[in-house]
Amino acid sequence: MPDRFVVGVDLGGTKILALVVDKQFAVVGRAKKSTKAQEGVAHVHDRIVAAVIEACRGAGLDPKALAGVGVGSPGPLDPATGVIIDSPNLGWHNYPLREKLQQALGVPVAVDNDANLGTLSEQRLGAARGKQHVVGIFAGTGIGGGLVLNGQLFYGASGAAGEIGHIVMNPDGPLCGCGNRGCLEAIASRSAIAGEAAVAAVRGHAPHLLAACGGDVTKVRSGDLAEAIQAGDQAIETIVRRAARYIGIAIGSLVNLLSPDCVVLGGGMVEAMEDIFLAEAREALKHHAMPYLAQRVEIMPARLGDDAVALGAALLIAEKR
Ligand SMILES: [Zn+2]
Repeated sequence: MPDRFVVGVDLGGTKILALVVDKQFAVVGRAKKSTKAQEGVAHVHDRIVAAVIEACRGAGLDPKALAGVGVGSPGPLDPATGVIIDSPNLGWHNYPLREKLQQALGVPVAVDNDANLGTLSEQRLGAARGKQHVVGIFAGTGIGGGLVLNGQLFYGASGAAGEIGHIVMNPDGPLCGCGNRGCLEAIASRSAIAGEAAVAAVRGHAPHLLAACGGDVTKVRSGDLAEAIQAGDQAIETIVRRAARYIGIAIGSLVNLLSPDCVVLGGGMVEAMEDIFLAEAREALKHHAMPYLAQRVEIMPARLGDDAVALGAALLIAEKR
């Protein structure tokens, strides 16, 4: 536990969220800014600093008095050095984020992968509180993952372990952003679903989805999918259920490998369609994990929502102090 306040930052492709938390990890200040990554590296850095200062001001604090700042960023990155190795969405390559922020803020900074931090906060404060071995899976535009084993984040040899979205489900499957074929992300992310939904729409099988997303299925949001399913687009329900089942199949393999106590399912798609994702994942787990291991694990919905990554970032820096 920190003896002073810390700030956790969620650095996303579209928004930056900064939370000031106290010793009990209660949020006492917050600030949100758009990332505007297209305006360049230095600009994003300045907006992170501005969000931290604004959140501190809201809590009546001097930023110099903070015990530290944690940042959750899309990867891949090196958590040991805080260097962002490659982040196409933010336009960063080998960018020393930790060093730059430490210079600007004058307090210790720690940086980690956003999905790792979402998993850490759910394990410490959320759905998997008190569990020792936790797998986090966050399904939205992509599929992020994190591992807490023996109560600690697991990094592996590279520092980048936990890329659950790039488990290969079908080596002849669709191309993935990572360059491989048939990764879970290429089959079950919102981007993958949008591609299949576009085909269904062209065939006239997704009238409600077309209405929900204003005619452009490539820009489909999780809420649009939920709305279309509720309105009766059977084809969309089939596509989403299949994606959820694939996530469940991947969970089955992870359970066989790691025997976690808890798998936390979160991200925009799960929040929008929790019943479908939980039901399909739990059903697939029954068929794809060994019964003895499957009995010991629960699949739980994430609880911390939009604050999960920033809270995990606050935990990261607090636990380093
Ligand atoms: Zn991949």
